[in-house]
Amino acid sequence: MIPGPFEYHRPATIADAVKLLSSLGDDARPLAGGHSLVPMMKLRLATPSHLVDLHGVDGLKGIRRDGDKLVIGAMTTQHALLASEEIGTSLPILHEAVLLIADPQVRYRGTIGGNVANGDPGNDMPALMMTLGATYTLEGPSGTREVAAGEFYQGAYFTALEPGELVTSIAIPVPPVGHGYAYEKLKRKVGDYATAAAAVVLTMAGGKVETCAIGLTNLHETPLLATDAASAVIGTSLDPAALKKAAAAAEAIMAPAADARGPVEYRKHVGGVMVMRALQRAAGRAR
Ligand SMILES: Cc1cc2nc3c(=O)[nH]c(=O)nc-3n(C[C@H](O)[C@H](O)[C@H](O)COP(=O)(O)OP(=O)(O)OC[C@H]3O[C@@H](n4cnc5c(N)ncnc54)[C@H](O)[C@@H]3O)c2cc1C
Repeated sequence: MIPGPFEYHRPATIADAVKLLSSLGDDARPLAGGHSLVPMMKLRLATPSHLVDLHGVDGLKGIRRDGDKLVIGAMTTQHALLASEEIGTSLPILHEAVLLIADPQVRYRGTIGGNVANGDPGNDMPALMMTLGATYTLEGPSGTREVAAGEFYQGAYFTALEPGELVTSIAIPVPPVGHGYAYEKLKRKVGDYATAAAAVVLTMAGGKVETCAIGLTNLHETPLLATDAASAVIGTSLDPAALKKAAAAAEAIMAPAADARGPVEYRKHVGGVMVMRALQRAAGRAR
């Protein structure tokens, strides 16, 4: 329960943070809310010799509208996302999903940047960011680049981040007015990570699905975009046959780990159920 020894650094600018991370190399880790990193350090699953705390870095916090996108600073806490009227109005699925993360104590500290950068398949933000078509801005020793959320996750705890790079912000295209949305998450108890979760964003026209995106959490070593499942419901009124087809297509790409949350077959089954529930609830909200 006691982490290994480490040196603490508190840079004031992104440039200083990047410089520190690149010069200290593999032994250094950025520290955001610490709600994933510190437990790993206490279990000695992570033993960084240097922690680069991002709390003093200017310009990493805040939520702003930039044309048809919402741009969220990496150090914006989950609590701040919940408190944002802009998010409640234009990106309600983010509000819904964040409310299903742990408890207020975790959400006061946990950040959106830490959640997307962590690479834990159990984190809720990554699949949601893929569903929404988000892009991450990364800053590192070679400059700034943008990576689509859909291309960021390469394996469990393995992302497109290069040594010394930070996620500085997340840009999310605002879905059209009248879109339907739902984040369905099955968990064993309040505060638990997902046994299975599905994000759906769709639009309806004349009672039929016009556009649809479906993301899956904790059903593979990376978050998944269930494109075949989404295609299966386009042009349908989400009748039982279409829902079943979508669930089957989503289950076909799931490869969850068998763990304390259940065996593989169970987790795939409930993953399909989450997809069907999210589709139905999203359609009910679409205008
Ligand atoms: C009891 C409990 C329950 C939880 N339940 C859930 C849950 O249901 N769903 C869920 O999604 N999460 C859950 N979490 C995790 C929580 O949301 C974390 O806050 C989040 O995963 C990590 O964010 P953080 O700001 O705490 O990051 P940290 O723990 O500080 O960092 C996480 C990792 O990302 C790296 N990192 C942090 N910021 C950046 C950055 N800007 N650029 C590059 N790398 C960075 C760190 O070096 C570290 O490797 C839970 C945590 C606890 C303690």
